[in-house]
Amino acid sequence: MNAYLSFDECALAIVLIFLISQIVRKQYRGSRTNSIMFMMITMIFVSIFCDLSGGAINQYGYPAGWIRFFSYTVNLLYFISRNLIAALFVLYLYSSVDIWHVFTVNRIRNIVWFIPVAIVLFIVLLNGRLFNVFEIAPDGKYSRGNWIILLYAITAFYAIWGISVTLRFRKLLNKDKFYVIIFMYVMIFSGVFAQYIRPGFLIESFCLAMALLFFMVMVRREENQIDPITGATKYNEAIDRVTKNFITHKPVSVILIKIINYSNISLYLGQAKFNEFLHLVTDVMNSSAEENGYVAEVFYLESGLFAFLGETLDEEIISNEAGFMRDYLANPVELDGFTIMPDARICIVKCPEDMEEFQTLFSLGTTFHHTLPETRDVHFYRDYCDDKNFKIRSEMNEILFRAIESNGFEMYYQPIYSTVEKRFVAAEALIRLHDRYYGLVSPALFIPISEATGAIHEIGDFVLRSVIKFISELDMEELGLKYIEMNLSAAQCIEVDLVERIQNLLEKSHVRPESLGLELTETAADINPEIVDHNIMRLHDYGIRIALDDYGTGYSNVKRVTTLPIDQVKLDKSFVDMVDDPQMWIVIQDTISMLKEMGKEVLVEGVEEERVAKMFTEIRTDLIQGCELIQGFYFCKPLPADEFVEFIRTHQPDMA
Ligand code: C2E
Ligand code: MG
Ligand code: MG
Repeated sequence: MNAYLSFDECALAIVLIFLISQIVRKQYRGSRTNSIMFMMITMIFVSIFCDLSGGAINQYGYPAGWIRFFSYTVNLLYFISRNLIAALFVLYLYSSVDIWHVFTVNRIRNIVWFIPVAIVLFIVLLNGRLFNVFEIAPDGKYSRGNWIILLYAITAFYAIWGISVTLRFRKLLNKDKFYVIIFMYVMIFSGVFAQYIRPGFLIESFCLAMALLFFMVMVRREENQIDPITGATKYNEAIDRVTKNFITHKPVSVILIKIINYSNISLYLGQAKFNEFLHLVTDVMNSSAEENGYVAEVFYLESGLFAFLGETLDEEIISNEAGFMRDYLANPVELDGFTIMPDARICIVKCPEDMEEFQTLFSLGTTFHHTLPETRDVHFYRDYCDDKNFKIRSEMNEILFRAIESNGFEMYYQPIYSTVEKRFVAAEALIRLHDRYYGLVSPALFIPISEATGAIHEIGDFVLRSVIKFISELDMEELGLKYIEMNLSAAQCIEVDLVERIQNLLEKSHVRPESLGLELTETAADINPEIVDHNIMRLHDYGIRIALDDYGTGYSNVKRVTTLPIDQVKLDKSFVDMVDDPQMWIVIQDTISMLKEMGKEVLVEGVEEERVAKMFTEIRTDLIQGCELIQGFYFCKPLPADEFVEFIRTHQPDMA
């Protein structure tokens, strides 16, 4: 007896291992892609098993009785399973690139897929009478019939279909997967071709098994997509899936669930228990979906945000599921003796009905809890999507992108009044965004988002260039202006080349550093890494004025005010709003006194009324003779550059 394993036996062993692993891991259920893959592996196993056992029986000469029946059966099964593999692979591709709906909506495509399978069954069954596919001679010799070519043709038909789907939707496959599939085809074709030319060279099954091995190792790592910590599918997979859905216009429903107090819960539970909590929520979502008939998958998108991506489009079912989760999260959740009080916001989106681009869905995910009414009701995105403010917030990423692409930014300038000199001495540069669809968009909205997305660096650069250009073209002395201030975001303060860039721009434009002021927010001043201190120190040493903006809104880290070289402190409008509260008025006066004692120049922002302007001008204590600088609508709103110059020309006491 031959002591070596044949190619076919090796192939059988490899495929058997896959089959067992799929059964043990219960991969035959769950997603459709999994089930199709499982059927394919089963068919590969059957085909190799039949190939082997058919050959083995034939060795014993002319089979008779039930052996003959068995021999014919395995040979027939071989042909059926071999063709089904190719046909199933086509289905696998449709399902795995998430274009299953493309396949199912088209009846003709369904029929075209089914007919060749039916022909195979028909031909193979006919073989029992006509021996048109194969025959086993009395000496056990196996010979092919004429119709075998038809079976090969049908396999080729599915193979070409599969290749064309692969090529046509290659953008939906990641690169690995695309090349692996192409390589698989090459490998299988080579095997089939080699065995067709030389039937004694039994390499076909081995090539098939190797192609499967390669595919399983490179592509089928579905379980990696499930985050073991939360039990939900990972973020990157969500992006992949949603992108594909939008490309292929696959209709999906999305229930967005944001637990807005997730950081408090995490603080309360600690990280490990918090993960258990997320896992619990995922489990509840999965099991309630099963009960409600909502066919969907749970994605955890970080920061307390879950997305429930569903194939069910029936609104009643979607609403029921969302309602169930609302009720679940509106009540205390018990976890190992801890009682958690989640605060969740829920929004239902239908794609592509409600929105055209997938980015919109992701920006919505990060913003909807700020933009929807503060209720725990389940909201439908479509009820709000026409509201201008809602749209602006949820489409902020695209708005920013458009503005950067099409120079949609402009600098406005707001005069700063000196109560000592009784004239305008400076101005603050404030950015404005003109959007082609939404008109003017407030920086209070887009600056925080551009900080989160990183767009702030490009925007900051624009501000820097525009302001320095503006100063260089302005006759500051003639207008009686000493400096123009601009806002520097925290993200800019940690730019490594910030100082050099500012110096270069100033030098190139022949602008004196003293003409420029930079406003840091309290948050920026509060970042303590060396780079911030280093940048600010160097800018100050170079002669640029440094102001601390929005004083009183953050933690007002007094220590940082003393350690950073700050020339001016800008009291936030929230102080102004409280001038009529006698206690607050004491705080305001003491704050100004304290800052004056530290040698800082004090500016008050957001003064809208003459009465308030007077209050600040007339503060008199041992240390203060009035708050020296005032900025606010009472004097002037921020204006476009030319209107600002015109305003100063007409309103400076010595110029008017
Ligand atoms: P900020 O730097 O504190 O600017 C003052 C804000 O108060 C401006 O709002 C200004 O228009 C507004 N304001 C001035 N006087 C009054 C008043 O009397 N009443 C009221 N109600 N508001 C007044 P704006 O222009 O909407 O800017 C909002 C914030 O956006 C700014 O606050 C600043 O933090 C940020 N920002 C604006 N432009 C830029 C920029 O170029 N770069 C960066 N990084 N941030 C900017
Ligand atoms: Mg400012
Ligand atoms: Mg401010």
